[in-house]
Amino acid sequence: MKKNIAILPGDGIGPEVCEAATKVLSEIGKMYQHEFEFTFADLGGAAIDKTGTPLPAETLSVCKKSDAVLLGAVGGPKWDTLPGDQRPEKGLLGLRKELDLFANLRPVTIYDALAEASPLKDDVIQGVDLVIVRELTGGLYFGEPRERRGEGEEQLAVDTLVYSRKEIERIVRKGFEFAEIRGGSLTSVDKANVLESSRLWREVVDEVAKEYPDVKYSHMLVDNAAMQLVRNPRQFDVIVTENMFGDILSDEASMITGSLGMLPSASLSQDGPGLFEPIHGSAPDIAGKGIANPLATLSSVVMMLTYAFEMKDEANALAEAINDVLEAGHRTADLTNDASNALSTEEMTNQVIDAL
Ligand code: ATP
Ligand code: MG
Repeated sequence: MKKNIAILPGDGIGPEVCEAATKVLSEIGKMYQHEFEFTFADLGGAAIDKTGTPLPAETLSVCKKSDAVLLGAVGGPKWDTLPGDQRPEKGLLGLRKELDLFANLRPVTIYDALAEASPLKDDVIQGVDLVIVRELTGGLYFGEPRERRGEGEEQLAVDTLVYSRKEIERIVRKGFEFAEIRGGSLTSVDKANVLESSRLWREVVDEVAKEYPDVKYSHMLVDNAAMQLVRNPRQFDVIVTENMFGDILSDEASMITGSLGMLPSASLSQDGPGLFEPIHGSAPDIAGKGIANPLATLSSVVMMLTYAFEMKDEANALAEAINDVLEAGHRTADLTNDASNALSTEEMTNQVIDAL
């Protein structure tokens, strides 16, 4: 199969982890007779330096023509003094909007070999394998009006939490789809005891559920979900929730693993290309040193193979290769206290390729 992949290395360690990804993708292409074609484009600080804007029109057009987009990371201290609307992060927000990426997926997987990094006890985290499906383009972060009113003592600040039935339906349907693909269950998280938008959310979930009779589903209040995630994360398979709850819960869930350098994400639209990226940032403190952990980005490639290309065998092979190198004891600096034995980005990438 031929696939066009837009590569947006971005800033900090972004280019380093993207290089690992293209190397591994090329290898998979050779093994399975696929033609992966890479088109590089600028985003974030790198784009600001070259063109003066964090999301150049050229980048957007490359992404729109692609079958999938791989992103490294954006941002860094160099651009922190710019006004808010000209920051590197604006480039990513703009891209999400332009590609209509309404579904954000954050899997949380515990690797046995890294279990000691978790702040939670062994018996609590063993076998944790869940994915949070977060609505990304609606809700409190986008609702209008959002404004200040009045002055001094009388001043008010207003944000608006609004969801249309349509917006809820499409994200909830994604949740059920993924639960069906995984052969698992769905937990819908809301705050229906106080929020009207959550009551509509619950109604829609109950309706959509009728189309997925094989998927076991339940409702959970967000405060309870926050507690259950650390009390007994194994009870969850797919969690679907609105934007702000998903923002908070997915950061909480990511800490279950204790290894930021390991976690991937995917943002998907209805029909267009999806965006795949590690959840970690640009890590300016280690940028350019060649020591960044590439595994979060390689796991994002696993998601790309799965969700964008439906290449199940290829995805499984890469996921297994990642697991194998960890089982064999290979570690980048962020995963070990034994600095003298830490692998560089390139060495770790080569280990994965060998394992493949
Ligand atoms: P952002 O605001 O972009 O999310 P951040 O400040 O939250 O960034 P990161 O840039 O992700 O955080 O970095 C947090 C810490 O984790 C840093 O010390 C960084 O070096 C480390 N880190 C992040 N990603 C990796 C990685 N892939 N490999 C090794 N260390 C990493
Ligand atoms: Mg951060």
